Amino acid sequence: MGESELRQQLLAIARAMNSQGLNQGTSGNVSVRNGAGFLITPSALPYDRCAPADLVWVDWAGQPRGSRKPSSEWRMHRDIYCRYSRAGAVLHAHSLYCTTLACLERPIPAFHYMVAMAGGDSIRCAPYATFGTQDLSDGVIQALADRSAALLAHHGMICFAADLDRVLALAVEVETLARIYLQALQVAEPPVLPEAEMVEVLRRFKEYKA
Ligand code: 13P
Ligand code: ZN
Repeated sequence: MGESELRQQLLAIARAMNSQGLNQGTSGNVSVRNGAGFLITPSALPYDRCAPADLVWVDWAGQPRGSRKPSSEWRMHRDIYCRYSRAGAVLHAHSLYCTTLACLERPIPAFHYMVAMAGGDSIRCAPYATFGTQDLSDGVIQALADRSAALLAHHGMICFAADLDRVLALAVEVETLARIYLQALQVAEPPVLPEAEMVEVLRRFKEYKA
């Protein structure tokens, strides 16, 4: 896919974050791998006022190319691409249910088998650090070990996938799990599935294709 087509697709996914209820205002950001760097949403610009030319290309050293400032969270995006060759797109959101759990510094345990969608038997919560800092990115990379999604304490969530469609779908899935977990917590702490069962679910997920 050429860069101009990729810019159109990135903007469409950024806008879909709002229409799917994952984001409000200028919170959150999304990016896609592109050559020797990545394209990312600009900082502090609402997506409905954003044109494809406002998206910023950033190289692995963090050098932006373009007229806009890249998202303040470019470090988290850059570090995920550098760490995980399978990451083709990264999405960060302040979605309501994930953020509620993150404000309580609570990870999502294996209360439902779909937790395995994020690659393991839990979705961890990275420690709090100021937005846009290398400290925040370092904590996120640790929380993502063997996972493709994490909560960010007192902040939100982040996930990555092979491409933009898949990263949006994963973000919706993780937000849904957070919502169900919070609903369950209204009644009691839900029991978790045994470790061996989550290993079996993870094995089956590898073959779960259309
Ligand atoms: P940007 O507008 O710089 O992408 O910041 C939004 C955000 O979510 C910071 O954590
Ligand atoms: Zn944020």
